[in-house]
Amino acid sequence: MSNEPMKIPQATAKRLPLYYRFLKNLNTSGKQRVSSAELSEAVKVDSATIRRDFSYFGALGKKGYGYNVQYLLTFFRKTLDQDELTYVTLIGVGNLGTAFLHYNFMKNNNTKIVMAFDIDESKIGTEIGGVPVYHLDDIEEHLPEDVTVAILTVPAPVAQPIADRLVEKGVKGILNFTPARINVPETIRIHHIDLAVELQSLVYFLKHYPTE
Ligand code: ATP
Repeated sequence: MSNEPMKIPQATAKRLPLYYRFLKNLNTSGKQRVSSAELSEAVKVDSATIRRDFSYFGALGKKGYGYNVQYLLTFFRKTLDQDELTYVTLIGVGNLGTAFLHYNFMKNNNTKIVMAFDIDESKIGTEIGGVPVYHLDDIEEHLPEDVTVAILTVPAPVAQPIADRLVEKGVKGILNFTPARINVPETIRIHHIDLAVELQSLVYFLKHYPTE
């Protein structure tokens, strides 16, 4: 296995955490190999896609043997930077934000929410899920430089100005849970997750594309 970071297509990269989680469980249960059919069933990705994805990382499954779990895990760990802890901040400790602070992200990957910000005085100075909550006004002063990712769970109208401040502070990636479309410089990666839209889309698909 080469030590060079490999360029893999974005669609493949997005599936890596899914594969990684499943393989980790397999490894824990003592399984040493897995077939693309088994993987396909577990992660709900068709096996042709899995085989193509895996060929990017030099894992060529052998007929009648499948893939070596340990090899794949080592590759994923390196590619997903699992050996490195990524520090995350959360802005907006409302219902959704509070749930995230209680959720143990460390369970499945090496990310850790270390600090939260809000403007609600009743929340400032408290700890939620072990994470201290500061006033947004203190973000410039308090946000450590090694925090490279932010989760936005604030009301939509304030998302853009907060994102601007985060970028100014050196944050490189934003997970935006607000419905606001945020503009950031090209060097910043932003992923939008609108839970209401996702739910609506599921209901639409159920209605119009019923499963057999
Ligand atoms: P959710 O949308 O997560 O269910 P909610 O309905 O409890 O939350 P929202 O009004 O959406 O509340 O606000 C989410 C959180 O964002 C609240 O804790 C609120 O105090 C906080 N908030 C509002 N404006 C700002 C701001 N400018 N900066 C930081 N936090 C803010």
